[in-house]
Amino acid sequence: MAEVTIRALKKSYGGLQVVHGLDLDIVDGEFVVLVGPSGCGKSTLLRMIAGLEEVTSGDIRIGERRVNNLPPSERDIAMVFQNYALYPHKTVAANMGFALKMRGMDKAEIDQRVKRAAEVLGLTPYLDRFPRALSGGQRQRVAMGRAIVRDPQVFLFDEPLSNLDAKLRVQMRTEIRELHQRLKTTTVYVTHDQIEAMTMADKIVVMQGGRIEQVGAPLELYDRPANTFVASFIGSPS
Ligand code: ADP
Ligand code: MG
Repeated sequence: MAEVTIRALKKSYGGLQVVHGLDLDIVDGEFVVLVGPSGCGKSTLLRMIAGLEEVTSGDIRIGERRVNNLPPSERDIAMVFQNYALYPHKTVAANMGFALKMRGMDKAEIDQRVKRAAEVLGLTPYLDRFPRALSGGQRQRVAMGRAIVRDPQVFLFDEPLSNLDAKLRVQMRTEIRELHQRLKTTTVYVTHDQIEAMTMADKIVVMQGGRIEQVGAPLELYDRPANTFVASFIGSPS
């Protein structure tokens, strides 16, 4: 686990600035939700933390390390996307262990980690199955399993539930929170869904137009919104 510290972080694509000098402190073990309308820069921020997008200026630290110039593989993070493409011709166990195998970890250690993650995610009975034989929720769990086996310091989620139907989405919210209760891994979770943010977050970061409008616990934002944008965004049903 580690804290994530962001200072004066900016991002431009060509001449277009999309992230305007963000400062953010994420505490060790915290579940932080980035929320805001489409296009406000949530994914860009997450991808800069992950190292999938270059920083234009500013600093990102994970624990003690300044990671700005480190490749994704050296940042000790694991990311879960909304389009969790599983390898169709690999079993659940092989899907979960693949990244570790690519890193040259020995088989006994991989098996051990896959087994432990499967237990946490309720996937033990499915380890020998292929993705096509799984439900949407089970596939989503496998995608999380691939992140968990790496035992990262930080989990990054980018709208992981937006392809699921409403009922499953509510169930998975609870499961992801329970997972966090068990693992206590520092988590940054992106969504455009206010309800998701309110029900899952220890701390919510409300963004608009590449800026942070307010940071606070869910009830704090609800009771004392800093401005009319936060009030209307948090207060309106999704
Ligand atoms: P969100 O995830 O909050 O919907 P994004 O971080 O994806 O927002 O995008 C923020 C802004 O940056 C948007 O205006 C988007 O059009 C722009 N953007 C994102 N990626 C690129 C890119 N590769 N090239 C140019 N503009 C981009
Ligand atoms: Mg996005």
